[in-house]
Amino acid sequence: MDLIVRNVRLAERLSDGPVDIGITAGRIAAIAPGLEAAAETYDAGGRLACAGLVETHIHLDKSRIIDRCPPPTGRAVNPVAAVAPLKAGFTVEDVYRRAERTLRECLVNGATRMRTQVEVDPAVGLRGFEAVRRLAADYAWAIDIEICVFPQEGLTNRPGTEELLIAALKTGAKAIGGAPRYDSDPAAQMRRIFELARDFDVDIDIHLDVGDTPEPLHIREVCALTEEFARQGRVVAGHMAKLSLLPPAEVAALARRLADLGIAVTVLPATDLYLMGRDRDHDIRRGVADANFLLEQGVNCALSTNNVLNPATPYGDCSLIRMANMHANLLQIAGAPRLRDCFAMLTSRSASLLKLPDYGLAVGNPADIVVIDAETPEQAIAEIRPPLAVFKRGRRTVIRHPPELVRPPE
Ligand SMILES: [Zn+2]
Repeated sequence: MDLIVRNVRLAERLSDGPVDIGITAGRIAAIAPGLEAAAETYDAGGRLACAGLVETHIHLDKSRIIDRCPPPTGRAVNPVAAVAPLKAGFTVEDVYRRAERTLRECLVNGATRMRTQVEVDPAVGLRGFEAVRRLAADYAWAIDIEICVFPQEGLTNRPGTEELLIAALKTGAKAIGGAPRYDSDPAAQMRRIFELARDFDVDIDIHLDVGDTPEPLHIREVCALTEEFARQGRVVAGHMAKLSLLPPAEVAALARRLADLGIAVTVLPATDLYLMGRDRDHDIRRGVADANFLLEQGVNCALSTNNVLNPATPYGDCSLIRMANMHANLLQIAGAPRLRDCFAMLTSRSASLLKLPDYGLAVGNPADIVVIDAETPEQAIAEIRPPLAVFKRGRRTVIRHPPELVRPPE
């Protein structure tokens, strides 16, 4: 064996107690208590381990531009309109540099796999896509990144966008997304996205249903298209903030349809909390879909970061564990089992949403291991405990020390 990560509690098998994980040639070779072998050793001291946090939805390409945007003057905000005039100035180098800073924060916060949304249109061309593709190649030692390419400012109303989507799909984009809310013909955009997904045999990961009124609810059309194009199990809806405006019985009925069609949902608590309820000046709704409730109705869900330091979300440290804590706090989630579900929505459930067949702490899988400074998933979420060590394919990629008090001498 090349490495033994000793004395970890497996997030999915806590009752096993502390075990050792043996690694050979970048893969997990054994999981058992008291492994005996001559190998380099990392002692986790009984802490929690998982196969890495999975970021299913983040915009690396437009992160860290908040310093280029004046703050909003009233309650109303339009982040897409705020970013649009900046995009002509996005060079490959500029996008790369900003995206790299954000990615490095994701890495120290324990991400080992990622799907990043990248926008293309005539203003930015393929420069964002090119920058993120280079970044993904340069950081392949630390994280597996797949790109979901999408039209942020509309597809049917922006001639030239479709050709760019096709060019990206031909050169490495692994999924296609959309944002029908920003299209002059939302229904036509959704149909075109499904056609392109069929033509290129890729999954769909589409922004849906943010707004201050329950109608229109585009998810219904996405359900119909999923059936028509036989894309069951290959569609993800991001946001779904409008579900927070509906009574539970209506959400449950819709959730059963999503579950039947294998449509997964990524909830993006920070962005939706910041953007929703802008129509009011008091008693402002939280505006975040309840991922735990959807999960309990049979829908697979993930919790993710979305935007960082831009007009859609002017904050962020790229900690997925903080996102789960925020979700639990906003949706008034309590109790260990439901907090464990929140943790699963950063790990195993996110991996299943991205259809990663080799994710998980199991013999034969890549030795992606994140040791978190907690004993249980519920403690990690409740206390926003940080990762202390990250291994990617058996090699250490992150060293992080918890802060210590230093008492001065008397
Ligand atoms: Zn997004």
